[in-house]
Amino acid sequence: MMEHLQFSWLETILMVLIFIGSVYLFAKTIRDRWQLLMLGKPVNRLDQPTARLKQVLKFALAQYRMPEERIHGILHLFIFYGFIVVSIRTLMLFGQTFFRDPDFSLFLFSYDSVIGRLYALLKDVFTVLVIVGVVGAAYRRLVIRERRLEGKQLEPVAILAMIFMLMVTDLTIEAVAGYFGHSAGWWAPFSLIWKHILDLFGLADSAFLYHLSVWLHLTGILAFLNYLPFGKHFHIITSIPSVYVSNLDPSGMAHRIPNIEEQEQFGASKISHLNRKEILDLYSCTECGRCRVDCPTDITKKPLAHKQLNLDLKAHLYDVGRPMVAVAAAKRAAGTASGADGAENGEEEDNGKTVMTGGAISTDTIWACTTCGYCEQRCPVLIENVPRIIEMRRHLVLEKAEMPAELANTLRNLERQSNPWGVGARKRGDWAKGLDVPTFGEAPDTEYLFYVGCAGSFDDRYMKVTRTLVKLFLQAGVSFGILGADEQCCGDAARRAGNEYLAQTQIEANIEMFKELGVKKIVTNCPHGFHTFKYEYPEFGGQFEVVHAAQLLAQLVDQGKLKPAKSLPRTVTLHDSCYLARHHGVIDEPRAVLTHLPGTVVREPERHGKWTFCCGGGGGRMWLEEKIGDRINLHRFDELSKTSPDVICTCCPFCMTMMADAAKDTGKSEQIRVFDLAELLDQALAEEAQA
Ligand code: SF4
Ligand code: SF4
Repeated sequence: MMEHLQFSWLETILMVLIFIGSVYLFAKTIRDRWQLLMLGKPVNRLDQPTARLKQVLKFALAQYRMPEERIHGILHLFIFYGFIVVSIRTLMLFGQTFFRDPDFSLFLFSYDSVIGRLYALLKDVFTVLVIVGVVGAAYRRLVIRERRLEGKQLEPVAILAMIFMLMVTDLTIEAVAGYFGHSAGWWAPFSLIWKHILDLFGLADSAFLYHLSVWLHLTGILAFLNYLPFGKHFHIITSIPSVYVSNLDPSGMAHRIPNIEEQEQFGASKISHLNRKEILDLYSCTECGRCRVDCPTDITKKPLAHKQLNLDLKAHLYDVGRPMVAVAAAKRAAGTASGADGAENGEEEDNGKTVMTGGAISTDTIWACTTCGYCEQRCPVLIENVPRIIEMRRHLVLEKAEMPAELANTLRNLERQSNPWGVGARKRGDWAKGLDVPTFGEAPDTEYLFYVGCAGSFDDRYMKVTRTLVKLFLQAGVSFGILGADEQCCGDAARRAGNEYLAQTQIEANIEMFKELGVKKIVTNCPHGFHTFKYEYPEFGGQFEVVHAAQLLAQLVDQGKLKPAKSLPRTVTLHDSCYLARHHGVIDEPRAVLTHLPGTVVREPERHGKWTFCCGGGGGRMWLEEKIGDRINLHRFDELSKTSPDVICTCCPFCMTMMADAAKDTGKSEQIRVFDLAELLDQALAEEAQA
């Protein structure tokens, strides 16, 4: 009986030749992709092996972010794990054809052993689950047609059909082999059922069907392997290494340019200015579009979405990368190359064709990002987006001095007066006139430096918040002091806008001053300053304990140092700031304060907490006009309005401005008031005092 399943010599020779040819072609393609990858700048991502292995276990193997979309995520898990399980059987099939032995099995996987039978059971179940996953994925693409999956459908659908075929052939091989007495029996229940179905059609004993299925299965796998590097399914190969070398920095952290004074080239203008991880990311993007779902720029029809940027950069890499590799190789062959870096040598011949920033990637795309971090935190394979955008901005600002006029004005103001509005720096502490606000260091052992920030110092509306906050701190007995006219911008605005030179100057000056004054703890009400102090100052040698005012207020209320007692009936919806909730996980604290306010009903908008929606003011966008698409702040305001609030509560000066503008522009500023958390708390306290 078994001889019916044995491969003929001719079949074996043919299969071996196809196998060798396929592996050769695959290796050639991988060599091409490797050479393109090496065009990027080296980046050290091999440190902290334990943390990196954890990332791989969590994000690549356990697919941590997949079940965030329950049904589709689980369907993907079926396909992912099923493919791994079935691959072991595929390897055994290759062995059976190469050695002309239908009994060939990999160590321990023989159906005669317990492990072999358990494997048969596992594979059988997963084969069916993969089929379920594939049908579900096809339904989603072809029938549901989700927005995030818009784009080319031919490739993904063809690949789904291929996977479907691989699973059906696997079941068929198992079923027919069973007829010839070579099966795991009831250990492979679905194959057994499939055998009975085939029997109904008189096919269960068809050796031809068996051989056809083996051929389709194995040549299908080899074709699939060779197709992978050409499409989105390359992530099957690259995503695990990509996750291993992923960014371990805190969310949203930007890095300094080392020795900035000595640099001749700034930021990224060409594909070879991206680092190698950023190029690997282009291979690893699964094109799932999760990054689009709540991206404020994509939703409001601006020319930026993480997914599309990956596709554009990949197309550009294939376009200009190969000539650069070829030029470098020719130079090496002629002995004129200066070193082993292909990128460096290839670029000399580019004649301007390799322009990425402002060429393949439009400046509108580059300036559109609010750096809200949503895309990076949704991406299942940890693809990095914001750092490359900042690098492209650095090129535009520092090398080409090309930026929107309003931003140029802001940067000039920051340079001259250390605030975006250009108000005289001497007036920075004027908001405190008439108040008994201590200066930092005035009293010995002052605990907190209260860093007020630019908006808190100069924006009329936000100065009121600053005064309220001071009142609350004094009332609660917080040991704090301000810098007054000596305070400077924290550096965030210049940094996100690409002027790293200015940002570094501000950061270094601040650190020097803070150290001189003996600052250990900083409290600020601006999430952008909070973020920069906390995540970015340490790279410059500035280690401080940093808290946001919302955190301190929550603590003071919890400790009973502030006792909101007056009932004020109102419905409040909290707009979480991206730089507080998403980048830092400060989500519970503002809610804790709100729930202590008697009479206040808190209603959550659809997008809240970590998955909040940007107000449109982050990443330097506060200083840029919004000329393309819909306005982000209106979109967010509309969403918040759906909770029918009397009050929108913010914890960020930019969010407050954006929401207040939206309320005004929609004519709803009387119905929906915008207050800072500190003000809502103060109102409850003030009412109590008056009562
Ligand atoms: S950081 Fe935010 S605005 Fe920028 S691309 Fe990602 S989701 Fe969109
Ligand atoms: S960047 Fe990430 S989330 Fe966006 S399409 Fe690619 S894999 Fe999906």
